[in-house]
Amino acid sequence: MYAPSIQRLISELGKLPGIGARTAQRLAFHILRASSEDATALAESITEVKLRIRLCEVCFNLADEPRCRICTDERRDAGLICVVEEAGDVIPVERTHEYRGRYHVLGGALSPIDGVDPEHLKIAELYRRVDDRSQPIREVVLATNPTTTGEATALHIADVLRERAPEVIVTRLASGLPVGGDLEYADEVTLGKALLGRQRW
Ligand SMILES: [Zn+2]
Repeated sequence: MYAPSIQRLISELGKLPGIGARTAQRLAFHILRASSEDATALAESITEVKLRIRLCEVCFNLADEPRCRICTDERRDAGLICVVEEAGDVIPVERTHEYRGRYHVLGGALSPIDGVDPEHLKIAELYRRVDDRSQPIREVVLATNPTTTGEATALHIADVLRERAPEVIVTRLASGLPVGGDLEYADEVTLGKALLGRQRW
């Protein structure tokens, strides 16, 4: 129906989440109508992000330097670590403005049925951070999603930390978050309350 180059653009856009065939078409025509500068800026931003973005060597958040902005920010409390499943979960926690600590991004949640075991996540790296006496950790906030796999992951980590570092306080976000949902979709007021009301676990 379309020239092959337009068809290619539509089919690439259609691979994005939440973009159906019609939206892909609309976006493709929008790009066609845009100035060359705008279209090139879009294409270059995609290329650049894939070239530059890597995982922070400390917390595994997204970074364009060896360490992310939060790990290099001296004003952030280094004795407090918030453990989340995905880098995308850092954003909603930041939006609450209730958290001034650092993060640890696991890269997923435990799900033995799907073949996701502790060694597939950045869990050993979390224990190493807790063990590092040069940077003492007071509290680990388990902010995995309120889903079955998120709960299982929090339980697993809490058990290990209690054995390994009994002096570290382990907390879990207070209830109130929609069960079965993702942190990503929680509104900032609810998530802020869950953070402030976090309980020793
Ligand atoms: Zn970091």
